[in-house]
Amino acid sequence: MLAVKNLNTHYGNIHALKGIDLEVKQGEIVTLIGSNGAGKSTTLGTITGLLRATSGEVWFKGENITSIPPSQIVKKGISLSPEGREVFPALTVEENLQLGAYVRKDKENIRTSYDRVYELFPRLFERKKQTAGTLSGGEQQMLAIGRGLMSMPQLLLLDEPSLGLAPNLVVMIFDLIVSINQQGTTVLLVEQNASMALSIAHRGYVLETGKVTMTDDAKILSDNDMVRKAYLGNI
Ligand code: ATP
Repeated sequence: MLAVKNLNTHYGNIHALKGIDLEVKQGEIVTLIGSNGAGKSTTLGTITGLLRATSGEVWFKGENITSIPPSQIVKKGISLSPEGREVFPALTVEENLQLGAYVRKDKENIRTSYDRVYELFPRLFERKKQTAGTLSGGEQQMLAIGRGLMSMPQLLLLDEPSLGLAPNLVVMIFDLIVSINQQGTTVLLVEQNASMALSIAHRGYVLETGKVTMTDDAKILSDNDMVRKAYLGNI
């Protein structure tokens, strides 16, 4: 479904992605793990067109989408749920969700998407008229994921959905990602919490200083000594 080929991205002189290759097949949850600054967010930004690749290609469902604008990429079925801090604080929950649906032409079906998001996150339904800036960190994270779902993506990219959440909420968010995937959405998940990410993913990629250093089935990665030592905090 998604194929990233020899992708290079720079910030000025900083060579952030150094020839990334990765693939996500329909129906999968694939996780990108790696330490701070490894290039995980840059990878998502380049896939969604928010950042321009210096070279390399991004293919989605057989089409080269490397140089098309972000709004077109959303229309093609890819959506990015940013870190929870990036919701619009002055807008209500409902208005934030509405923004997630802005590219859709089938306005009559948008109500179904609100219903789906509110079903997944009853807490957002209770707070739909509340401004997003007054939500707790966990609720903002739910809103960021909900907003990503409003465009009815075939591929949902999640950037650190567990960041700053209490352990019980982390478990809840990961359960929800599994439900979203079981309902037919393919997921590319960027996470610092490698142990949780590998527990729900089918496959994973390890990123180090802008390069893929390892890729395998999630179970195999989580049993790998190097991965355990570097990312899972045990040996
Ligand atoms: P984290 O888990 O800390 O979010 P990450 O794996 O997502 O890290 P990126 O944010 O993709 O890492 O950063 C990759 C590299 O690019 C880092 O060296 C970072 O300093 C650099 N970088 C990221 N954004 C910018 C920017 N706007 N300007 C300059 N350099 C940047």
